[in-house]
Amino acid sequence: MKKNEQFTVTIEDFSSEGLGIGKTDAGFVWFIKDTVIGDTVLAAATKVKKNYGFARLVKVLEKSEFRAEPPCPIAGKCGGCQLQQMSYEAQLQFKKDKVYNDLLRIGDVEKEVLDKTFEPVVGMTEPFRYRNKAQFPIARNKDGRIIAGFYAGRTHSVIECEDCLLGVKENKIILDKIIAWMERYDIDPYDEASGKGLVRHVLIRKGFKSGELMVCLVINGRSLPCKEELVKELCGKEGVDSLSFSVNTERTNVIMGTQIVDIYGPGYIEDSIGNIKFRISPLSFYQVNPVQTEQMYGAALEFADLKGTENVWDLYCGIGTISLFMSQKAKKVYGVEIIPEAIRDAKQNAELNGIANAEFYVGAAEEVLPEWYKQHPEERIDVVCVDPPRKGCDERALATIVDMAPEKLVYVSCDPATLARDVKYLRNQGYELRRVRPVDNFCETVHVETVVGLQKVK
Ligand code: SAH
Repeated sequence: MKKNEQFTVTIEDFSSEGLGIGKTDAGFVWFIKDTVIGDTVLAAATKVKKNYGFARLVKVLEKSEFRAEPPCPIAGKCGGCQLQQMSYEAQLQFKKDKVYNDLLRIGDVEKEVLDKTFEPVVGMTEPFRYRNKAQFPIARNKDGRIIAGFYAGRTHSVIECEDCLLGVKENKIILDKIIAWMERYDIDPYDEASGKGLVRHVLIRKGFKSGELMVCLVINGRSLPCKEELVKELCGKEGVDSLSFSVNTERTNVIMGTQIVDIYGPGYIEDSIGNIKFRISPLSFYQVNPVQTEQMYGAALEFADLKGTENVWDLYCGIGTISLFMSQKAKKVYGVEIIPEAIRDAKQNAELNGIANAEFYVGAAEEVLPEWYKQHPEERIDVVCVDPPRKGCDERALATIVDMAPEKLVYVSCDPATLARDVKYLRNQGYELRRVRPVDNFCETVHVETVVGLQKVK
């Protein structure tokens, strides 16, 4: 088979990156984007290797029962959503299978144990418009018009799209105003090829509970012309509550610069998850799907089953979301996180909520925890919660947790494969799997979060 050659294939499986998988004669395996299990499609080869190849969808010949019409007009071109061609039910099934199979195959968890502990994936009633944050690159299109949108999958060309269906409706209103202001005052968008032009990105955040809006323009310069005019357009009653710009003059893929200059408002917005308030500035980390985050951390709290007398560790605590959630039901919570700014936010958020029984440390969990344990060998720890990045927990952190011998462990994971690896380790070290609850925080994408509860074997 040569490049661009067309062929017919039926999709039988689905990769964890969101590609449909089908086989042609002699077991040759094809990976095809924008397809769904059960589709029969006409495809064109794009890359051919020895035993497998990649192809692009030319036409769906026979529709799978799991297929849905992608509501977004650029779903196939943009790199953001990989599952819009799938019904939401099928997406949840895909995520269930992914977590279940990883725990089975990588984690060596027996089928009987899984069938007893595995709970349905917590989905959303409305799997769109859930993101409270969006970053739009600004560019000029072929006709010279200023546009906002998204990078086409794996490239740096901008596809116009001001109304991403994962984001809030306000995004488009704000972008329209910013672009009109740029056109009116001759303010150029940044051009990656030449490194010239001013406006690189627009960051927009909305507090779902507070309704507050934040806008930050990322600019290739140290000052913003015609600021007052922009404030007049965007800010005030019913408008944007916090406006700033971020200086990024580097030729880099990193979006935000480190310096933030406030133009309007206090420099932050507030929002809450559950009954905890958070103060969010342009550089703060904040969970992007607040509705499902509440579900996820609610599950963590449920699995921890706190009575009020417990000492708790929250490893990889970020801005302390889980720590602060748990501190209301525990005697004492310790949090550790590697990014100093996140810990600064965590401390500030504790204060903002009048929480005095949470203590935070900056550093790597695998260094801070063993050191703390050495210095506090007598202090009983009842519950340890971890929420690591995709690579999972460092084994030194896990080994210390096992030494500390807490009654309960709660593992919040954004990668089922590393979760399974770590669950295997913990089961070998005297913990049993009690609860598994996947949560769909990133509808329309291949990502899935999982909350797992483990208990020390008596
Ligand atoms: N529960 C957090 C989010 C956790 S995301 C919240 O809601 O805010 C994972 C976090 O782990 C990130 O904040 C990341 O900076 C941090 N991290 C990564 N490696 C780490 C390490 N070795 N030790 C401690 N924290 C780490």
